[in-house]
Amino acid sequence: MIAQNQNRYSILYGKETIEFELEFYERQRFRIDVHPNNRVVVYAPIGKNIDEIKERVKKKAPWIIKQKLYFEQYQPSLPNKSYISGETHLYLGRQYRLKVSESNYEEVRLVGKYILVHIKSKQNTLKVKALVEEWYKVHARKIFQQYLLDCYNRSDKFRFELPKYQIRKMNKRWGSYTKRGDILLNLELIKTPLYCIEYVIMHELCHVEVRNHNVQFYKLLTALMPDWKKRKEKLHTFLL
Ligand SMILES: [Zn+2]
Repeated sequence: MIAQNQNRYSILYGKETIEFELEFYERQRFRIDVHPNNRVVVYAPIGKNIDEIKERVKKKAPWIIKQKLYFEQYQPSLPNKSYISGETHLYLGRQYRLKVSESNYEEVRLVGKYILVHIKSKQNTLKVKALVEEWYKVHARKIFQQYLLDCYNRSDKFRFELPKYQIRKMNKRWGSYTKRGDILLNLELIKTPLYCIEYVIMHELCHVEVRNHNVQFYKLLTALMPDWKKRKEKLHTFLL
């Protein structure tokens, strides 16, 4: 699973509110991660109380703020889109301009640097959104299927049948492997580069073999995709 949801807390540092997610782990030292999507995750040794933890976060606040500013410089996608001409939309990690034209038919096409949408009324932005999403879905189905097969066939280490997959809209994960044995892939993945898509698919395929994120899991993943860390880092520059 590539997930993100934990306990949320916040501290005040000057005028700045720093929100963070808290996780406990079996280490002696604190760890603070600032992710490109502005998530701050604090890993605290088991047994530390919340006041101690907040104190620690406060001490590290200047560093956290610096990290956040750095990531804000290249935030590639905005969470809310209006679906009007001129807006930027992502496809396979590249930015395209949306161009909405009125015509008597409905169609979405990629032409050069543009995602062209033909629609009866461009005021109907909900309909534009639906058309664009359907277009994403069509391409996601094709590309995810191809990469799933490709990743599966690349390994003679897999001793299972090719699992089924479903495309979902998920808020907090790029992909997951369900208890029922299906791979779920986030539709949003289609907005990230192919090598990130490939990474998520390989990651989930490895879960069929090894459920948990343990040493064995990472051994397998590294054997099949030695550069997975780089791909993962790139994936994190895309908002979820
Ligand atoms: Zn996982």
